[in-house]
Amino acid sequence: MQAIQIEQEGGPEVLQLTTLPKPTAGPGELVVRNHYSGVNFIDTYFREGVYKLPLPHQLGAEAAGEVVEVGEGIEGFAVGDAVAYLGTQNTYAQYSIAALNKTFKIDPAVLSYDVAAAILLQGLTAHTLVTRAYEVKQGDWILVQAGAGGTGRLIIQMAKHLGANVIATVSSTEKAQVARAAGADHVILYSEESVPESVKNIVPEGVHAVFDGVGKSTFEGSIESLRRLGSMVSFGNASGTVPPFKVLDLAPKNLTLLRPQLYGYIATEEERQRHIGELMDLIGQDKLDVHIFKTYKLDEVAQAHIDLQGRKTTGKLVIKID
Ligand code: NDP
Repeated sequence: MQAIQIEQEGGPEVLQLTTLPKPTAGPGELVVRNHYSGVNFIDTYFREGVYKLPLPHQLGAEAAGEVVEVGEGIEGFAVGDAVAYLGTQNTYAQYSIAALNKTFKIDPAVLSYDVAAAILLQGLTAHTLVTRAYEVKQGDWILVQAGAGGTGRLIIQMAKHLGANVIATVSSTEKAQVARAAGADHVILYSEESVPESVKNIVPEGVHAVFDGVGKSTFEGSIESLRRLGSMVSFGNASGTVPPFKVLDLAPKNLTLLRPQLYGYIATEEERQRHIGELMDLIGQDKLDVHIFKTYKLDEVAQAHIDLQGRKTTGKLVIKID
C-alpha cells in the first residue's frame, strides 16, 4: 500500500510517499481502508521531533473509511462498516490499524467521509475544552487565540452555542472574516494590536477564560487578558512550546492554568460516548459548520504541512486517499 513515512525528523521534505506492507488486524484491532485523513498541527510536531516517535514512522492522527478486516475478539464492528477513528500517527496511508476504543461508526449518508475525517480530532478537542477544561457558561467572556484555524473555529462556534461572548484573535483581515462568520463577536488582529489592551477595551474586567493553541507567542498576553479567577487553557504550541512559567504569577488574579490533551478527556468509554454523542448531535442539528479549506492528495502531504505551518489556511485540511 501507499503511505507517508518519515525516516528522520525535519522539515516537510522528510514526508516521503512509500510503499509499505498492508497492515493486518491483530486481536482487538481493525484494519480500515482510508478514504480521507485529516491533517492536524500535531502531525507537524511529530514530523519535527517536538513530540517523539520511534523511526521510521508513519504520520497522521485521524481518518475515515471502511473496515476491511476485523481482528479476533472484536464485537460491534464488521467488515464494510463505515468508521471514523483517531489514529496513532498512521493515517496518511491507504490502510491503517484502528484501535477499538478510538473508532466510531458513522453513517456516510449523514456524515460524509471527508467531513468525518475533518471533524473528529478537532471537534472532540474543541468539545472537551469548552465542556471540561473550562466549562463555558451563558454570558461568559471567552478569548480564542487563532480563531480562524481548524480547532479555533470550532471552539468559537461551540462557545457561542453555549451562550458566551467570544473574542477571537487572527493574523489577517481575511482570517478576521472567517472568525466573524464562525460567530466571534469581536476580532483582534494580533499581528497589529496588543491582545490584552484590545481585550480590555472590549471588556474592562478581562475574560473568564482563554483557549490558547498558539503557545509561545501568545501565552503572556493570554494570562494578561484574564479577569480575577480566570482560566488559562493552554492546549497547543503552533508558535513554539510555552517557556517555563512561574506558578507564583498565577497569584495576583487567583488564576487557574491547565494544559490539557484530548486523550486525557476521552480515556473511559463513558467519556468517549458523551463527547462523540454530543459532537454528533451538534453536527446533526446543524450547529457546527465544518469548513474544509483544501483537499490534498496523498503525495501532497508535504504541501499541506507547508500551508498549515505557513499560516496560510483557515478551517481544516484533509487528504483524499481513495
Ligand atoms: P490551526 O488550523 O489552528 O493552525 C494553526 C494556526 O495557529 C495558524 O493558522 C495561525 O493562525 C496560528 N499561528 C500563530 N502563530 C503561528 C506560528 N508561529 N506558526 C504557525 N501557526 C501560527 O491548527 P489546528 O487546529 O490543527 O491546531 C491548533 C492548535 O491546537 C495547535 O497548537 C495544536 O497542537 C492544538 N491541538 C491540541 C490538542 C490537544 O489535545 N491538546 C488537540 C488538537 C489540536 P493565524 O494566522 O491566525 O495566527
